[in-house]
Amino acid sequence: MSNHEVPPSQSDAPSDEIPQSLRDLLHGNGIFTQSHAHGAAADARGNDDHDNADAKAAEVLDRIRAFNLKPREVRDILDRYVIQQGEAKKVLSVAICDHYNHVRRCLQHPGEADTDYAKPNVILLGPTGVGKTYLLRCIARLIGVPMVKADATKFSETGYVGYDTEDLVRDLVKTAGGNVELARYGIIFIDEIDKIASQPGTGRDVSGRGVQVNLLKLMEETEVNLFSQTDLVGQMQSVLQMQRGGAQAARTINTRHILFIVSGAFDKLAEIIRHRAGQSKIGFGRASAATMADREALHQVQTADLIQYGFEPEFIGRLPVRVICDPLSAEDLERILLTSEGSVLRQYKRDFEGYDGIEMNVTREAIKAIAAQAFQEGTGARGLMTVLERALREFKFELPSTSLKSLEITTATLDNPRRALTAMLAANRREHRELLRSEVNRYAERFVAEHGVTIEFADEAIDALVDLSIARDKTVRALCEEIFRDYPHGLGLLARTSGSAVFTITRAMVESPDAELSRLIVAAMRPAAGET
Ligand code: ADP
Repeated sequence: MSNHEVPPSQSDAPSDEIPQSLRDLLHGNGIFTQSHAHGAAADARGNDDHDNADAKAAEVLDRIRAFNLKPREVRDILDRYVIQQGEAKKVLSVAICDHYNHVRRCLQHPGEADTDYAKPNVILLGPTGVGKTYLLRCIARLIGVPMVKADATKFSETGYVGYDTEDLVRDLVKTAGGNVELARYGIIFIDEIDKIASQPGTGRDVSGRGVQVNLLKLMEETEVNLFSQTDLVGQMQSVLQMQRGGAQAARTINTRHILFIVSGAFDKLAEIIRHRAGQSKIGFGRASAATMADREALHQVQTADLIQYGFEPEFIGRLPVRVICDPLSAEDLERILLTSEGSVLRQYKRDFEGYDGIEMNVTREAIKAIAAQAFQEGTGARGLMTVLERALREFKFELPSTSLKSLEITTATLDNPRRALTAMLAANRREHRELLRSEVNRYAERFVAEHGVTIEFADEAIDALVDLSIARDKTVRALCEEIFRDYPHGLGLLARTSGSAVFTITRAMVESPDAELSRLIVAAMRPAAGET
């Protein structure tokens, strides 16, 4: 998420109304990872990392102990990042506040058994790229809790091949820096849940049902072993730690407070809903149900529809909070570019800024055109990334090596990025040559520092190198290193035999480096040979 401050004119988010403490939270380092099948990153950490992770975990736990956000506050913060999805934001804000209020109470009064608590696990329905993951990612960062995301399609029923549902919980512990206490309050996000519906034709059949049952156990409450049966190293480490008299580390983690979010596009669900609505005696008439748009239909979803789709009633029963995310229009995509604090456009701007402060600006018409093109992609806001990447990849490659410090993206740039770039480079030819000349001199400075031999480039030699660099599309540094490959050794030898302190690199040396070096060496040796 962005650390970038938003110019007030660009943001429709009520940033001034948000208390500083919340802003700090939001911009602080949240913890989020994609779940890896057998991620080893956490295993490789040193002690310092351990200390840091522990300190961070303790800070987050303190924050949860003091949790006092109100649903409206959460919604307002989400508004700054996620465009549209108003209903989803409201429902999620309430679920999240309820859950972490409950967690706070449990932490404050550990003795008090939290019986009768129905966890507000969430099922998110909506097409791809409309902010389902993004909403949760923002929330996880806001609270500071760890979150892992995985696709339901990679689970196998028995876990002996591929990914086991319990691996999700273990990954959560890794994401929490190994802190089991913190992981107990984390969020597990499972995407493509519609692919494990057991109905033929909608996804996997028999094993889908098995995966649902396995997930159900996790969603209710179970103790998950911290080390999988195949993780022999982890098991051994734990035993060794105990033998060394270390504190007995937890060997399992309880899933009671882990919040589960499942999401999917549920492509054929609208059809089921229309069918059901058409048959009902009350409410929709047959005709109006038949013409109901997918978007409208999804908002009418009932438990029976999801069961018919292929989910076990118990599974759906554990997902009491239902959230529908709507498709995004071209105008919505435009708003994302203009106002979302986490928009990919801001990311591109930051990327360019990272190269000696190249400033990128996009005209209003170009923003509109990017949104329109992205909409055509049919992948929601993900299309924005596709369009920007296509338009800007050449600029990203070329501009950092030029003296250009600003880039304006217009509709012409989008229409033909290569032509726009060529024109920019042509207009900058003189400055570019100057930059390349200075790079030749930088090579000479490095040569002295690295090899203890002073070289100077004749003006003509510099010109020849600049021409070559442009003609061969190669950086001056790489070019010089290639052409003068043998010079450190050769000139070093000459410096020792002839006592010369400074060598001038001529144009002839650029054109025939080896022949010129040999000539110099032979000439330097000749008097010595004559003396004997
Ligand atoms: P999905 O709905 O498939 O989970 P994501 O939430 O991962 O899609 O969206 C992909 C990216 O697109 C996000 O990281 C975010 O940058 C952007 N995005 C998607 N929806 C929105 C939205 N409603 N507002 C702002 N950005 C969005």
